Amino acid sequence: MKIIKKTAVIAAAGLLFALCFSGCVSAQEPVTRTVFAMDTVITLTAYGKHADEALDAAVQKLNEYDTLLDVDSGDIGNINTHAGEFVQVGEEVYRLLSDCVELSRQTDGAFDITVGRYVDLWGFRSQTRVSSDEEIAEAADFVGWEKIELADGKIKIPTGMQLDLGAVAKGWAAGKLKEVIAEYGVESAILSLGGNVTTLGKKPDGTLFNVAIRDPDDPDAYLDSVQVSDLAVVTSGSYMRYFDQDGVRYHHIIDPKTGKPAESGLVSVTVMCTDDTAADALATAFFVMGAQKTADYLQTKPDIKVILVTSQGEILRIN
Ligand code: AMP
Ligand code: MG
Repeated sequence: MKIIKKTAVIAAAGLLFALCFSGCVSAQEPVTRTVFAMDTVITLTAYGKHADEALDAAVQKLNEYDTLLDVDSGDIGNINTHAGEFVQVGEEVYRLLSDCVELSRQTDGAFDITVGRYVDLWGFRSQTRVSSDEEIAEAADFVGWEKIELADGKIKIPTGMQLDLGAVAKGWAAGKLKEVIAEYGVESAILSLGGNVTTLGKKPDGTLFNVAIRDPDDPDAYLDSVQVSDLAVVTSGSYMRYFDQDGVRYHHIIDPKTGKPAESGLVSVTVMCTDDTAADALATAFFVMGAQKTADYLQTKPDIKVILVTSQGEILRIN
């Protein structure tokens, strides 16, 4: 009797070991989804036994956000089409737009989602072209975050203004997707949305995630890398979207004060912090602000880490 019991215990222990062993192995295997959304290739990687269902849910959410934040459709499209009127938006979008206004205030307007008219002028939504000073002066009347009105879940922009959430949409979506994935019990994931990377926890083996930072002079090469957990790593760079005309490079990050591509002496800005939306907005803002103003801004914010690359090829790390 005793012997049988012992055998049963040994068999049960063996089964447990086999289950644990196979479970442990599959928990180490990454599950990945690659999709095209928000105008970029997106790769979502998660670990653990719920990774598959979590990623399916994340991809579905991603498609919803793609529509929601599009300048021509969803809530943002609706605001743009009904400029001059108060427009009811969903709770998530209202919160995002309120955060955007606050980030504009904090960055003295270097980040400004009302640059839609400028972005259109330079053709970054269609055919790129150099804009004249007259055209810029005319568009300037329809740019300015202070003119956004937010009240009771509704938003109003002046007639002629166009919102563009390109500088914040991917970061915001990354943070939201991370929440969706975590709801499925996933504790380890890395999500890459264009220049926006965000991480949930550490790798299953307990090591940090490695995020490479592209070389602005050779986007197929890497300049640096950072090791992170539970952090957003967002890069804004003039090399990401641009056109050359008559020997001049015109890129997609606009200085809202001039209406022209920002000339701050930077070619790449990487921001690392826990807030995905802020990381994305700040990367764009710091690009416009340049190294000195960025350093001033960060003096009271030690939790935000930044890597700047200047047009001279210098790498500056702040915090
Ligand atoms: P990012 O790659 O995150 O720096 O975002 C750049 C995109 O945001 C551009 O393609 C424009 O659609 C938009 N954008 C350009 N300049 C600004 C700015 N100063 N503030 C907010 N959005 C901007
Ligand atoms: Mg950005």
